[in-house]
Amino acid sequence: MEMKAAVFRKVHEPLTIETVEVDKPRGREVLVRTIATGVCHSDLHVVDGLGRFPLDRPYVLGHEGAGIVEAVGADVTSVRPGDHVVACLSGFCGNCIQCLSGHPNLCTGAIVTRADDATPRLSQKGQPFRQFLSISSYAERMLLHENSVVRIDPELPLDRAALVGCGVLTGVGAALRSAGLEPGQTVAVFGCGGVGLSIIQGARIGGARQIIGVDVFPSKLEMAKRVGATHTVNSSEDDPVKAVRALTGGAGVDHAFEAVGLAKLVRQAIESLAIRGTATIVGVMPPDAMIEFPWMAIRPECKVQTSRMGSNRFRADIPLYLDFYRQGRLQLDEMVSRRGRIEDINEAFRAMKAGEVARTVLTFD
Ligand SMILES: [Zn+2]
Ligand SMILES: [Zn+2]
Repeated sequence: MEMKAAVFRKVHEPLTIETVEVDKPRGREVLVRTIATGVCHSDLHVVDGLGRFPLDRPYVLGHEGAGIVEAVGADVTSVRPGDHVVACLSGFCGNCIQCLSGHPNLCTGAIVTRADDATPRLSQKGQPFRQFLSISSYAERMLLHENSVVRIDPELPLDRAALVGCGVLTGVGAALRSAGLEPGQTVAVFGCGGVGLSIIQGARIGGARQIIGVDVFPSKLEMAKRVGATHTVNSSEDDPVKAVRALTGGAGVDHAFEAVGLAKLVRQAIESLAIRGTATIVGVMPPDAMIEFPWMAIRPECKVQTSRMGSNRFRADIPLYLDFYRQGRLQLDEMVSRRGRIEDINEAFRAMKAGEVARTVLTFD
C-alpha cells in the first residue's frame, strides 16, 4: 500500500515528504499503523553523515515509534490486529548465545530484517528503500518483525509510550540495568538531553541519594531538576570535574554516565568517579573517536563500560517502565517538549541540534 513518509536521500539535506510503498506483512511480520514517533539523535546522525550506515539507497528514518497493529503475517503468534504496540530497535532472535544468556539487546541473530536481495519492505516505483534500524517510524505505517515490537496496555497514551521504545529505555536501563545502581549511591550525568534526563529518572527510581546533572544549556539543567536531579552544573561556566568533587565532599560519584557521545565528556565522567566507581558510556561516539585520560585520573578499582540500549530485555522492560509512568515515578509528559506532524521533521532536527528540546513527538491521524 502507499503511505506518506519522510525520506532521507542525501547527507546534510532536509528530509522530503514523499509517497512510499510498504509491502504486505509476510511470515512473522506485522504491519503497524503509526500513531506517534519520537525524534531521536540517531536519525540525525544519518542526516549528518555520521555512523556506519550504507548510503546506497534512500531511507525512511525514525525508530522511536508506537502504533496499532493493522495486519499480521501467517506465522505471527505474539500480537494480533488491534493491539497497541511500541517498536524497539533491539529486535531479537531468541536463539543466539546473547539471547539465550539473557542479553537479547546484544542479539547477533539478525532475523528481524529482510535480506538485501529479498522483496524490500519499503520501495518507491520499484526502487528499493532502506528501512532504518528495522523500524522506519517517520511514516504512516511500519512493517516490522514481531520480535521488534511489544504489546502494551491500550489505556496508555501512545505518544508518550513511543519514547520508551528508545530514549527512555536507553536511559532508565543504563541506570537500573547496565550500571546496576544501588539505593543510596551518588550519580553524575554528563549531558541532559532526552537520554540524559532518562538516566536521571532511572537513578531517582533506583534510589540514588545525590544526582548531579551536567550540561551547557540552562534550559536542560532546569529540566534535569524537574525530573530528579538534586544538583546541576553548567559546564560552560564551571569545571564539571571540580564541581562534582566539591558537591560530593571530595569523594566523587559512584556512577558517572556519558549521555552525548563526546570523548571529552567520557574523560570528565571517568575523572569524576569515587573509589570503585563506574563510568557508563551511553552516548554513541563517532567510530574513530579516541578516549584518552591520564592514569592518575582513575581512582582505585574503577570500571569503565558501555551500555547498549539500556541493557534491555524490552518485552519485559517497556511494560515495566510504563508501569513506573502509570505510578507517577517515571515522568514522560515532561519529556515531550514539542509536538508536531511528520512535515515538521526538519524543524525537529534543528531544535534538537540547538539544544531546545528534550524530545519532539510527531503524531499521525
Ligand atoms: Zn534512538
Ligand atoms: Zn539473538
